[in-house]
Amino acid sequence: MDKYEKLEKVGEGTYGKVYKAMEKASGKLVALKKTRLEMDEEGIPPTALREISLLQMLSHSLYVVRLLCVEHVLQSTDSISPSPAVSPSPKSNLYLVFEYLDTDLKKFIDSHRKGQNPRPLDPSLIQRFMFQLCKGVAHCHSHGVLHRDLKPQNLLLDKDKGILKIADLGLGRAFTVPLKSYTHEIVTLWYRAPEVLLGSTHYSTGVDIWSVGCIFAEMVRRQALFPGDSEFQQLLHIFRLLGTPTEHQWPGVTSLRDWHVYPKWEPQNLARSVPSLSPEGVDLLSQMLKYDPAERISAKSALDHPYFDSLDKSQF
Ligand code: AMP
Repeated sequence: MDKYEKLEKVGEGTYGKVYKAMEKASGKLVALKKTRLEMDEEGIPPTALREISLLQMLSHSLYVVRLLCVEHVLQSTDSISPSPAVSPSPKSNLYLVFEYLDTDLKKFIDSHRKGQNPRPLDPSLIQRFMFQLCKGVAHCHSHGVLHRDLKPQNLLLDKDKGILKIADLGLGRAFTVPLKSYTHEIVTLWYRAPEVLLGSTHYSTGVDIWSVGCIFAEMVRRQALFPGDSEFQQLLHIFRLLGTPTEHQWPGVTSLRDWHVYPKWEPQNLARSVPSLSPEGVDLLSQMLKYDPAERISAKSALDHPYFDSLDKSQF
């Protein structure tokens, strides 16, 4: 890791700390992500290797954070095993080196909500960000990859250029999504699709579209649409706004593993939750938040939705 000069910690992800660093040879800024890789005698788990090559492949999209390289650092055994009684097993770390972006969507929304100058996000910027988000998600889905943990924290932004890129991709599988992060911070449920909350094991691309819908609404509102603090509360937040789902709307819902009997709420008017959003925007949002995952709009079709008609798409 001598090639890099660590500058400062820029974030804490689910899997570990993220540092801003400079590549000494080029002066380029990078983000260093240390993964806590459990190594066994066999070396790097093949699942992790597969995941990393997938990441590398997907990061060829402009809307996915570019993985520049992977550094495998083996710590010498004497420095970590002071007691001779403990059998020395070499500790290893994988560092993922990504291109550096100056902020993420969570920090960006926060800066518009709090502080000196609270103000809405510019509607045309929301439209730009949504288009790039759908492009990135469509790219992943076309390669058969689900993100499964899309949230504002892992959408990175180049504020000056108005560019949005998806981060934290794919790590979900080799490193399995935990309930608590490594610092015991609760993993957010706010963007989790109802089929996942209800214990479905055969979920698909619709889980990412649900998250994209929640993120869309949050950019407009500057606050989360469904801020649940437990899986149960998360479902209630969703049901109170969209109505308690029925077999008619979502065939099979009452047979899902964690389905219970819930209060029967009627659907509310979605437009009222996103008052400043155009009717086309509300229509796109409603198609992203369909209960039946099979009815949810795909990322690819979303790109052709009338909400994006006023966008100059040639620049993307
Ligand atoms: P993640 O584990 O990807 O969710 O990262 C946690 C936080 O670290 C993010 O919310 C960002 O603030 C920051 N971060 C991650 N990757 C980068 C990057 N490539 N450039 C700048 N900041 C990053």
